[in-house]
Amino acid sequence: MQNSVNLLDLSLSEITNVFKAAGIEKYRAGQVYHWLMKGKDYTQMANLPKALREKLQEEFPLSFPIIDKKLISEIDGTVKYLFRLHDGQGIESVVMQYKHGYSICVSSQAGCRMGCGFCASTLRGLVRNLTPGEILSQIIMAQADLGIRISNVVMMGIGEPFDNFENVVRFLQLVNADEGPRIGYRHISLSTCGVVDGIERLASYNFPITLSISLHFAEDEQRSKIMPVNRKWNIETLLNACSNYFAKTGRRISFEYTLIKGINDTPGEAEKLAKLLKKHMGRDVPFHINLIPVNEVTESGMKTTDKGSVERFCQVLTRFGCNATVRRTLGADVNASCGQLRLSEG
Ligand code: SAH
Repeated sequence: MQNSVNLLDLSLSEITNVFKAAGIEKYRAGQVYHWLMKGKDYTQMANLPKALREKLQEEFPLSFPIIDKKLISEIDGTVKYLFRLHDGQGIESVVMQYKHGYSICVSSQAGCRMGCGFCASTLRGLVRNLTPGEILSQIIMAQADLGIRISNVVMMGIGEPFDNFENVVRFLQLVNADEGPRIGYRHISLSTCGVVDGIERLASYNFPITLSISLHFAEDEQRSKIMPVNRKWNIETLLNACSNYFAKTGRRISFEYTLIKGINDTPGEAEKLAKLLKKHMGRDVPFHINLIPVNEVTESGMKTTDKGSVERFCQVLTRFGCNATVRRTLGADVNASCGQLRLSEG
């Protein structure tokens, strides 16, 4: 009998229950889970009898993603993976090394339907949501491949996490679990293009994770033109949701601002951005602005800004009392825009 349950989507206690129903002893669940978290399939689970391994293979087939491409930066060791899922879909993950440890950027969907004008991941639309186990597996496989422990997670890869809300929440719980990768919520950031009902729903869980907002524009007219999500939830609605998120979780809000030459990178735009955030976030809500020179995506026609403009932009923000930094570029030599590896697969 084939079972549609994928053990990687389940917590240890859920696997225990599933095993119980299948007549498998309880302590086996702990053994299997231990191996799963190391990215091992049944054939490698050395402390399990062969008959049990065959039964598991039959009833609960595993589908770990396969490493299809792996690019390693010669500058700083940043590793970029293209993983192949069981149905042939490709997703990207990036492992970066910081002073405090390793951080991974994971994908939440195969493709994306949000339609942001500068982003490679959305060019072919959404194919499907990733399961909780497929999001988790990116971490498990990278840890196993590199022989490291990852301590930080950013949900900033392919996809809009709030367009796959239930699976993302379940992933957050799995990755945080004591018997799993045990990554603390304070070491997790989730980035959204501005799906306000997702922000509100996440706030109700009260996980202390960092919310990162892909803002990119300070005015509705321009934002709506390039980021369709803004037509549903405008900037004011979005910033109100951010204030509420802080009120609930106590976590500082992070704003991403991608600088595009001649479109949003002038000192005038910086002043608008500073005033907007000062006004809407109020004096009490701490926030931080991350400036990112846009990665050029051929199809978008948008050009990246020059170094001088980035510095001027940052100075204006600082002058207006905003906490802003320019994102450190890691893996410049493997850092094709997120989504481009997948796209190049045809
Ligand atoms: N859908 C989520 C998470 C994925 S995108 C979101 O929009 O936040 C992760 C980040 O990369 C976002 O801030 C996004 O705006 C940014 N991004 C997308 N395309 C980019 C590009 N070409 N250059 C630089 N940043 C880009």
